[in-house]
Amino acid sequence: MTVKTAPIAENLKQVRASILAAAKQYSRDANDIHLLAVSKTKPVSDILQAYENGHREFGENYVQEGVEKIQQLHQYSDIVWHYIGPLQSNKSKFVAEYFDWIQSIDRFKIAKRLDEQRGAYQKPLNICIQVNIDNEANKAGVLASEVFTLLNQISELKKIRCRGLMAIPKATSDEAEQRNSFEKMQRLFIDCQKSFPEFDTLSMGMSNDMNLAIEYGSTMVRVGTGIFGARDKPTA
Ligand SMILES: *Cc1c(COP(=O)(O)O)cnc(C)c1O
Repeated sequence: MTVKTAPIAENLKQVRASILAAAKQYSRDANDIHLLAVSKTKPVSDILQAYENGHREFGENYVQEGVEKIQQLHQYSDIVWHYIGPLQSNKSKFVAEYFDWIQSIDRFKIAKRLDEQRGAYQKPLNICIQVNIDNEANKAGVLASEVFTLLNQISELKKIRCRGLMAIPKATSDEAEQRNSFEKMQRLFIDCQKSFPEFDTLSMGMSNDMNLAIEYGSTMVRVGTGIFGARDKPTA
């Protein structure tokens, strides 16, 4: 059996270069665009390769897998861990204890649990509201029309710091549709910032559509395949 070494250093360089190029093209400050390396299903050794190449922000989709990796890498205390998958209430305490961010908040009940479970000694948990921007059935996230109600409820929670919005637009290769989804998110985000000026995060764009997302104001692209290569396991 041949062991493939993922060319992670090279991939990272290319993804960073694309972000810089897109920022330049759309007159954005590249410092405003974070790269989240989505390491779900990938081994700790891959995360370490990215770390050794200067990368610090990682995203995980599954609670148990994420917690195991965080425990194994606990000495790398400058890693910022983002939970980006669906969360069941019975697992919320692990996210509250181990992660720095959760981007998939779509109901008050979960936010409230996380607030109660976040340790008194810990910094507030950073969150994003996940928006189901294309009104898809069976897609996680709140509808755009429900965002403000949820934000107002969450703003009362002391150990939760809401940073902005996250979206996974409808899977399509039709550029006009992709633009439409990103543009709706951009408008919603700007609206939110009028009431919540501290919001600094619009998390959208993945390996295949990050340039377009940057055109529409994304401040965080979440890239898995483009950095770590294709995943074997099915993913959420
Ligand atoms: C898996 C995943 C990504 C990364 O997707 P790629 O196409 O591999 O870049 C980004 N965001 C979320 C929420 C994901 O689940």
